Amino acid sequence: MNYVSTRGEAPVLAFDDVLLAGLARDGGLYVPEDWPRFTPEDLQAMRGLSYAELAARVMAPFAAPAVSEDDLGAIVADAYGGFDHPDVAPVIQLGGNEWLLELFHGPTLAFKDYAMQVLGRLFDLVLGRRGQRVTIVGATSGDTGSAAIEACRDREAVEIFILHPHGRVSEVQRRQMTTVTSANVHNIAIEGTFDDCQDLVKAMFNDQAFRDRLNLSAVNSINWARIVAQVVYYVRAALAVGAPEREVAFAVPTGNFGNVFAGYVAKQAGLPIRRLAVGSNRNDILTRFLVTKRMEIGEVVPTLSPSMDIQVSSNFERLLFEVLDRDGAAVARTMQAFRSDGVFELETAAWQRIRSLFDGERLDDTQTKNIIQDIYRAWGMLVDPHTAIGIAAGRLRRVGLDVPMVALATAHAAKFPDAVADATGVTPSLPPRLADLLDREERFEVLPADLSAVRDHVAARVAARGAAA
Ligand SMILES: *Cc1c(COP(=O)(O)O)cnc(C)c1O
Repeated sequence: MNYVSTRGEAPVLAFDDVLLAGLARDGGLYVPEDWPRFTPEDLQAMRGLSYAELAARVMAPFAAPAVSEDDLGAIVADAYGGFDHPDVAPVIQLGGNEWLLELFHGPTLAFKDYAMQVLGRLFDLVLGRRGQRVTIVGATSGDTGSAAIEACRDREAVEIFILHPHGRVSEVQRRQMTTVTSANVHNIAIEGTFDDCQDLVKAMFNDQAFRDRLNLSAVNSINWARIVAQVVYYVRAALAVGAPEREVAFAVPTGNFGNVFAGYVAKQAGLPIRRLAVGSNRNDILTRFLVTKRMEIGEVVPTLSPSMDIQVSSNFERLLFEVLDRDGAAVARTMQAFRSDGVFELETAAWQRIRSLFDGERLDDTQTKNIIQDIYRAWGMLVDPHTAIGIAAGRLRRVGLDVPMVALATAHAAKFPDAVADATGVTPSLPPRLADLLDREERFEVLPADLSAVRDHVAARVAARGAAA
């Protein structure tokens, strides 16, 4: 499969080059030149597979010929072997037509492990073949960073720098990053918001000389390989609730639009998905867009679901490219207007194409806590605030739909113990492998939201590590 940029100006690349490139050179995001297609028979044949086998089968057409299905098979077997549930991503029935897809059985207890553990190993494979090293730079509002650090720690060919907004991630989230003291792991706390962190990362990537000198690479949710790895659990869940004979709907707590976009990709690849419900917190740029056609940046406000405290959803550009008939120039114009004015409005036809699949719901913190409480009372189950928003969006959007609704449980309740305890009176406990997290030593640097300060810091660290090696 070859990949094209959403802005139409960057070179067409193969899967391994897209993996290492992250952002395209024209500022766009890479998407497949065309969609691979699984027939209903292909999907039926996937039913008895283990999670790892399914992952290799689903990812293979996207990765070929750069990475073979055999190489993928070895990578995913190793990646998912470390997860703490035999089904890797179990599907639990909540009510009549209501299901929960548990995506918190990886090392950092959030869905991002499902892609990141694969990504770290893909980097090893591809860089090893080329005899290269990379500097990974990423921004996190919480869960991406720890998942990336877990996936890259101690890897030979990788230095990893993760920026998080200082004081705006939960203690558990911060400690999951800052207590990893491997020499190739560098945590930076930025005095600003997540969007500031993301802007700094983008600016470093747009500095061509810097980018080339440090061989910059990204593992945040714009990395195409992450999207592909996330397609797998949509297929898994759909098969579990009756696909391909039956349609299915998903509800997804959404920030950067990466997870729910994987649902779109699954549909393009032949999975019978009727609807995708986007759940957001008070940072509701997407849900407002789905009502008004206007994508308009607002203030980022802190909420109980910090991994969704985002105003600019980077992966949305991929959907934009689709509904603008893959016209890279039109996407570039729209994104430039968005960048300079903080707003764009889509034409009705393109917006309707989005609305033919996507719905949006937003919940404030009180509603989120109420849902956490309802679920605890009904089933004795503790869910985290992000998951609660997904479940609520699914419930609101299930009305009148006669297909199973699968909500994605994106984090373990113990990652957000305060919110969960506040709602239920019960403090969720960390699984054994993280039990001593609060006692481990932390290491991170605090820097202002200033490009030259951050760039110099990264360059100095890479130089020092190179000298030490
Ligand atoms: C990252 C994250 C999200 C948002 O996912 P996107 O792919 O950015 O839309 C939701 N919930 C949790 C727990 C997360 O870590």
